[in-house]
Amino acid sequence: MYYFDNHATTQVDFEIFDLFQKLESDISIGNPHSKEHNFGWKAESVVNESLDILASNLNCLPTELIFTSGATEANNLAIIGIATAAYLKKIEKRKIIISSIEHDSIRNSAFQAMRLFGFDVIEIPVLCTGEINLEFLDNVLDDEVLMVSCMAVNNEIGVIQPITEISEMCRARNIIFHVDCAQAAYLNIDEIIQKVDCLSLSGHKIYAPKGIGLLYISSIISIMPEPLILGGGQQAGIRSGTLSPALCFSFAKALEKIVNNREKEISNLKLMVREFCKKLSQNNIKYKINGHIERRHPGNLNIVFENVDADMLILRLQPKVAISTGSACHSQEMRKSRILQSLGLPDDDINSSVRIGFGRFNTVTESIELADIIAHEMLKLRSFD
Ligand code: PMP
Repeated sequence: MYYFDNHATTQVDFEIFDLFQKLESDISIGNPHSKEHNFGWKAESVVNESLDILASNLNCLPTELIFTSGATEANNLAIIGIATAAYLKKIEKRKIIISSIEHDSIRNSAFQAMRLFGFDVIEIPVLCTGEINLEFLDNVLDDEVLMVSCMAVNNEIGVIQPITEISEMCRARNIIFHVDCAQAAYLNIDEIIQKVDCLSLSGHKIYAPKGIGLLYISSIISIMPEPLILGGGQQAGIRSGTLSPALCFSFAKALEKIVNNREKEISNLKLMVREFCKKLSQNNIKYKINGHIERRHPGNLNIVFENVDADMLILRLQPKVAISTGSACHSQEMRKSRILQSLGLPDDDINSSVRIGFGRFNTVTESIELADIIAHEMLKLRSFD
């Protein structure tokens, strides 16, 4: 089995899984929100330790972090939560700005704010490299803009956005800036966090189990998001619900691991991508890379295999190889990638594009084999023409 869909999700790291299992099976750990006995205190201490680890790796305060079920919920909380708060406070700013290649959890949240409260949603186009059009953004930012949300790294084409420049534009105009960092674990998030008001992360993209993520909310944010999930008032009332100490701790240790090994992992990922491409060329396979060639996730390749139907190719690779045509959330719908359309790619290129996500548990040997397998299947596909 060859798993090369690490932008959809990552395998849980073995060390993290051990930690998770130990904590999950420890009967002395109770409900972290039970205040009257040792079981509750112990569970709370695990949650607090998780917050401390996350905060020290992200360079923020533990009190600035809100656990969520993942980045979808964190993105919803950021956009709908802030829009709701602004509406309730009767703040006159009526515009939400997003890029045209945001994840649907951002896009649909912004459109929900439009439906619920009448916000205008403006989508900023991207250049053919996939980077947000900064000039266009600069022209759109005015006194009516409440917030800007832009992902740090795109989940389909891996392109890294100019977060520093966007942050400067927002700061100069007192606009709230949110960044979706679900795919950005190989960037210095501790530096990005200093430039934003809110930031989302997801556990299952960084080798932690699924079902955990967070929203960072700066302690000096001008408008605190209203909660979306109401209940017992946990997490300062911003996100009620019983936390899983095992998930919180696994997430924290997973982030710590990626931060500690970042440079080594990045060079491994780059090596695998290089060797894969080299092997494709040796097999006389023609390909083009979508998105910026350098400013990209080190393990992402979104490539056009000319004159090959990507869906057919992926199907032929089953059940042995996992690559994809794009976002996991869309894969059942079989519709054209909105992201690749935003780049201005012709339909033929879009239909021939696949996303390959190299990750921690792939090897160079596997990557070379993947290139051979793809080349072999492509030859067979072409022989049917
Ligand atoms: N944002 C981006 C950029 C993503 O790639 C994803 C996951 N595909 C999400 C948000 C949603 O994250 P989660 O699966 O943790 O809800």
